[in-house]
Amino acid sequence: MQKRLTLLGSTGSIGDSTLDVVARHPQRFSVYALTAHRNGDKLVEQCLRFAPEVAVVGDAETAAAVERKLRAAGSKTVVTYGPQALAEVAKSDACDTVVAAIVGAAGLVPTLAAAQAGKRILLANKEALVMSGDIFMDAARENGAVLLPVDSEHNAVFQCLPSEGTQHGGVTKIILTASGGPFRTREPSTLVDVTPDEACKHPNWSMGRKISVDSATMMNKGLEVIEAHYLFGLPGERIDVLIHPQSVIHSMVSYADGSVLAQLGNPDMRTPIAHALAFPDRVDSGVAQLDLAQVATLNFEKPDYTRFPCLALAMKALAEGGVASATLNAANEIAVEAFLNRRIGFMAIAQTVDAVLNALDNRSAASLDVVLEADAAARRAALKIIDSLPVPA
Ligand code: NAD
Ligand code: MG
Repeated sequence: MQKRLTLLGSTGSIGDSTLDVVARHPQRFSVYALTAHRNGDKLVEQCLRFAPEVAVVGDAETAAAVERKLRAAGSKTVVTYGPQALAEVAKSDACDTVVAAIVGAAGLVPTLAAAQAGKRILLANKEALVMSGDIFMDAARENGAVLLPVDSEHNAVFQCLPSEGTQHGGVTKIILTASGGPFRTREPSTLVDVTPDEACKHPNWSMGRKISVDSATMMNKGLEVIEAHYLFGLPGERIDVLIHPQSVIHSMVSYADGSVLAQLGNPDMRTPIAHALAFPDRVDSGVAQLDLAQVATLNFEKPDYTRFPCLALAMKALAEGGVASATLNAANEIAVEAFLNRRIGFMAIAQTVDAVLNALDNRSAASLDVVLEADAAARRAALKIIDSLPVPA
């Protein structure tokens, strides 16, 4: 049967890759809703190509502009806007599959709505799960939602786990690989001076700017350890991080008998996206077959927690539990935005997150409201700390 999709964050990097795979299989997938924040022109192009029933944007002004252009082109797509409209398309009976590809905390409420509505959820938006952990996983379980990880490492782990995906027959460890980002070998004393463009120049992957900065600080890997903990139910001590600069092995699972299973492929998000879209089938993703003779060498090393303090901070937040991960995530979002706007230096990202974690009390993540309050408090605290930091030269 054809799958009908809501694509949250369709104008981003994951959104693009998803629509590229969808377009290759019109008999398998059709689009019910596309959503964007402010990039109305790109959304219009996507609507004209994929003819969704509904398009959602962030505000009334963008909605009016998108509506005008769609009508002029003869499109019947209905245009709505705002957070409530995002949740509506995520839980609508008219779709069965929701691709969660909004960046950051803004994705939490619609992705949770999809879980509560028992959808098949293709999860790229790791921040939503990092914030809401058990609340999200419980909502998915109680409502029969199926979670399919799109993040390349988690998709790799999912492929290497025993066939039920979340059963732990003999699993000893999950090994998340990490490229080490653009600054893996850079002289640490020069990191204070790096620019947003340097930080966004990832050696292997092409991604949105926020996750690119997270990859440069390795906060991304920290968020992924937390994501893996919730998705696969293993404690932090059984989730290892291994630097693997080529990004060919996307992650591994080790077993009690000494076996280690790995998933390999070229670093292109269309592979995990196609896997999750078609699961349990396999379909063409447009990605070239891996040529290991061409790759020739695979290297591995341990992560350096002094060079990448954000990785250690995320591990600490996971160990603390409660709302600490939501606090970490919110402080990081604010700090990364300040770095991208050249308000703070690169190393001040970790400094800000650390200071916010120390300044705020941790408490049990008892409800969504508690999590959202912790998120808001961490954002306020981060802005205050950033105010006291020097503007980089
Ligand atoms: P991106 O910045 O390229 O795209 C983000 C999308 O979210 C856009 O469509 C944007 O319009 C929308 N958006 C932004 N702010 C919003 C808001 N406040 N409300 C509603 N919509 C909003 O980001 P991306 O690189 O595609 O990443 C998306 C998510 O996928 C992130 O959580 C990221 O960590 C995760 N992810 C991305 C990659 C990758 O290769 N890009 C890999 C793994 C995981
Ligand atoms: Mg990843």
